[in-house]
Amino acid sequence: MSLLSNYIDCAYCNKKLTKIIKNRTNLNFYEKIILKDYDLKKEFFKKIKSYECQKCFMIQNNPWFNKDVSANIYSNVYGQHHRSWQNLIDFINTDYFKNHKNLYELISKKFKIKNYAEFNSPFMGLFLDIFDRENSLKVSLKKNLSKNIVTYLSSRQVAGKNNKIKKLWMANSNKALKKIKILKKKINYDINKFLVLDHSDIAWGINDNYKSVNSISYAKELLNLKTINIDELKNNFKFDLFGLFLTLDHTHNPRKILNMALQNSKLVIVKCHINRNINKQHLFSLSEKFLNYLKKQRIFVQIINDRIEDKKLTNTHHLYFICSKKKFLI
Ligand SMILES: [Zn+2]
Repeated sequence: MSLLSNYIDCAYCNKKLTKIIKNRTNLNFYEKIILKDYDLKKEFFKKIKSYECQKCFMIQNNPWFNKDVSANIYSNVYGQHHRSWQNLIDFINTDYFKNHKNLYELISKKFKIKNYAEFNSPFMGLFLDIFDRENSLKVSLKKNLSKNIVTYLSSRQVAGKNNKIKKLWMANSNKALKKIKILKKKINYDINKFLVLDHSDIAWGINDNYKSVNSISYAKELLNLKTINIDELKNNFKFDLFGLFLTLDHTHNPRKILNMALQNSKLVIVKCHINRNINKQHLFSLSEKFLNYLKKQRIFVQIINDRIEDKKLTNTHHLYFICSKKKFLI
């Protein structure tokens, strides 16, 4: 059975893809593991062509991995999102943690944020930046809190253990939860934090674990994060800011997600890849020309790369932009 399926319609605007663009050949980390786990040769990737949509200017692979393979890539081939957990580990071990340099200051200087939401992934965006800013937490407290969160959640995994171990682990878990509650009394949770989920199977999620703890479960303890299923949002949820940090290209419904964010939030901040040499683990990638398409849909768009104090940004094919249904510049 073929590992590939046809994706000839643009994932964003549905237009039939016609224009093939040039594709690079050197393999990245993700591509190498896919080849290894599926016993494939490098030449296999030549079957996957890159297209530029002539309507919205997204870059898209076609054919691409079928439903079964693509879901398996993000659950089993590399179930843990290393980058995301590394952000959390850096947050715990660093004073004044900044995942996105001055981005949060840049936005919060201009308007007040009380309700903040992100999509699908808890440690890729601004949650940790905001949390550290709210509290100026000491590294020792962060380490203590983190240790107890891991104990609380992993010590409940008693399946297959004998009764003596079960009792001991449950007691440890209860103790850790008590400690978490005491430590959290010292912590401010001024900004309400929400994670909107579409449970996409081309995003990390069900197997995104570290020390046997899932990223979303961990984030709920640390950040008092509330999770909302996307279908519960009826365009009347009012967020001040919505962040999409390298997650818009990890869903089969990018237009639905971006529209949801624009309809439910005053301002939307997006960080995305804009590499025309799209990687094989991605179905599609945004592009700078795609932003012009958004503007034509009466969405206000502002690229803010030159405002972010990150010297690496210019050579990493990453783009930061804000967008809104109302004219709002920062
Ligand atoms: Zn398109």
